[in-house]
Amino acid sequence: MPNPIGEFDLIARYFTRPARQAVLGVGDDCALIQPGVGMQLAISSDMLVEGRHFFPDVDPATLGHKALAVNLSDLAACGATPLGFTLALALPRVDTDWLAGFSRGLWALADLHGCELIGGDTTCGPLNICITVFGELPQGQALLRSGAKVGDDIYVSGTLGQARLALDALRGTLALPAPLLALSRQRLEQPTPRLALGQALRGIASAAIDISDGLTGDLGHILKASGLGASLETAVAIDLLAHDADRAAFASVLSTAQQLDYVLAGGDDYELAFCAPFQARAAVQAAAEKSHTPVTRIGRTQAQTGLRLQQANGTFLTQKSKSFDHFA
Ligand code: ADP
Ligand code: MG
Repeated sequence: MPNPIGEFDLIARYFTRPARQAVLGVGDDCALIQPGVGMQLAISSDMLVEGRHFFPDVDPATLGHKALAVNLSDLAACGATPLGFTLALALPRVDTDWLAGFSRGLWALADLHGCELIGGDTTCGPLNICITVFGELPQGQALLRSGAKVGDDIYVSGTLGQARLALDALRGTLALPAPLLALSRQRLEQPTPRLALGQALRGIASAAIDISDGLTGDLGHILKASGLGASLETAVAIDLLAHDADRAAFASVLSTAQQLDYVLAGGDDYELAFCAPFQARAAVQAAAEKSHTPVTRIGRTQAQTGLRLQQANGTFLTQKSKSFDHFA
């Protein structure tokens, strides 16, 4: 079947809008953006590959959302404010229904965060979506992985583990009742980048990271970069699986060990893990309230390297599951 429209019509129809903040948007050889005076650019890329990062039959609107969300999540982890993004797209063929859905999901999230599409590349090939986001932050104020200090509190935003629960349920390796699958699937397919929290934590958090591969693995990156270890309280961590009434619903279908496993090693949640000194507790709470984002204090950094999972009775748990690694 011949393609209904060509490359340039496709770009014009689905991926072009008049530039707003950008000096120059889609249409020339380069886009131009102007960071504010005294600001640094924060830049990050994430690629989504069919079969690897999403199911071939996933709703294209949620895919458009997710492709941008995982990139915005990196800006959130640095405390940056989004400016714009580029979209490099390989498409096996021109499917206008798919493009309409994909671009709808993409624009909705872009508009929500005032992050405009300023350029990209479009080619024919196996479905592959690569987005690069550009954000800005005041010079020297980026939240880094390497800034944690001994004795800092460790916090996590939102809930952890549901995205991986949905993935396992969709793959058929875990049975989840329909309402819980619907809830979890929302987390897997339409993650919420925690931009407001990241920005509110500038000058407060000592280190931060977004949780894409699982809490222990991603927190491990902070600890390694900061030359530290940590202890986490399992009794607190297990409650991160869900809030309020949903918490009991998940607890009724999963063992305690499963709940903890999903929270600690789940992945794909795109929440923030961050550290802050003890003295900043009130400031962290204020940042959470200002950004309307729940945060939970789950442990402390320590000079001794390695991650220790402390149970309510004071003994330590040895963790089995590892976080996700594409090449493991
Ligand atoms: P070039 O030949 O200079 O690489 P292209 O012909 O690939 O330019 O693209 C033409 C214009 O359309 C450029 O401004 C480019 O940034 C933009 N563009 C291409 N693909 C996309 C896309 N998927 N989303 C947004 N802009 C795009
Ligand atoms: Mg090109």
